[in-house]
Amino acid sequence: MDKSINFAQQVIQWFQQHGRQDLLWQHDPTPYRVWVSEIMLQQTQVNTVLPYFSRFVKRFPDVGTLAAADIDVVLHYWTGLGYYARGRNLHRAAKMIVQNYDGRFPTNFDTLLSLPGIGRSTAGAILALACNQRHPILDGNVKRVLTRFHAVRGWTGETKVEQHLWTLAERYTPHKNVAQYTQAIMDLGAMICTRRNPRCDECPVSLECAARKQASQHNFPSPKPRKTLPVRTTVFAILENEQGAILLEQRAPSGVWGGLWGFPECTPQDDIRVWINNRLGFSVDAIQYKSLIRHTFSHFHLDIIPVHVCVNSTRNIVHDSNRYCWYTPRENQLLGMAAPVKKLLKEITCLSAETLYG
Ligand code: SF4
Repeated sequence: MDKSINFAQQVIQWFQQHGRQDLLWQHDPTPYRVWVSEIMLQQTQVNTVLPYFSRFVKRFPDVGTLAAADIDVVLHYWTGLGYYARGRNLHRAAKMIVQNYDGRFPTNFDTLLSLPGIGRSTAGAILALACNQRHPILDGNVKRVLTRFHAVRGWTGETKVEQHLWTLAERYTPHKNVAQYTQAIMDLGAMICTRRNPRCDECPVSLECAARKQASQHNFPSPKPRKTLPVRTTVFAILENEQGAILLEQRAPSGVWGGLWGFPECTPQDDIRVWINNRLGFSVDAIQYKSLIRHTFSHFHLDIIPVHVCVNSTRNIVHDSNRYCWYTPRENQLLGMAAPVKKLLKEITCLSAETLYG
């Protein structure tokens, strides 16, 4: 039998007995629901995604509702999932679908690929899982299975290695049961051929697996060549007014945490009292430095120095700007925030002003 047919059949048979067949997006797997789940699952584990997916599709049940929503509300439902560009792209793509395709979710590969945030693997997964169209996928799980199965050397981000993996992915994608196979190969990577301690004894393709034959599973995929991440430092000025509300500023639409709400920021070299007075027009009543937080992005570490400041808010520039708002947790404002901002807000709003002044 053709080796590729055999591979697909073994993976599908394993899936039918052991795979995940009850995930939220597998019930009613419309292209829209599969799209949302696939975007959320990029760089995020299934268990983390489940509650976010549930809340998201309840609030935005279809592409029209998502397109009509304010980006702040969309990002609010994304808060905590990280990689916020995914949420912004989802919203932009929904608007494009409404404007250009009458709100009907495209089921053509090239059209999907032209939408923001949808790459080759995601487009393939949406069409395979929701429409049973034959397209290969190559997400992180599939890359791991294929690099091990064929003992493919080299970092998978290198063009040559990636092209080779696409060729393999294409070869193994069956002509029938594509939806099942697609879920099956993803599950195999997530459940059996795991990053650490792959469970080769339970693997349906173990007899043919090159890495297993060489007992070198842990050498695949080859790690990304290491480089030391640079460190940037910033100061979060957490301003609290006499009513206990916290000042938030909306960040520029692009760049790190683009469009999200956060605390005004200055550099460690600034005199924070002077900076707050000059930039925001407040006078400072009390000030407390909190412990440094390190947040790591893919390309740098951000060391955050949070400073909790009680201010007198009688005369300032904030009143006249849409970029700022006073946040009161009890009022349940729906704002998208980066994880460290959300965490600090929670900590700060549990502190009474007395503690600070004390
Ligand atoms: S035998 Fe082990 S290393 Fe090879 S594909 Fe299966 S789980 Fe992965």
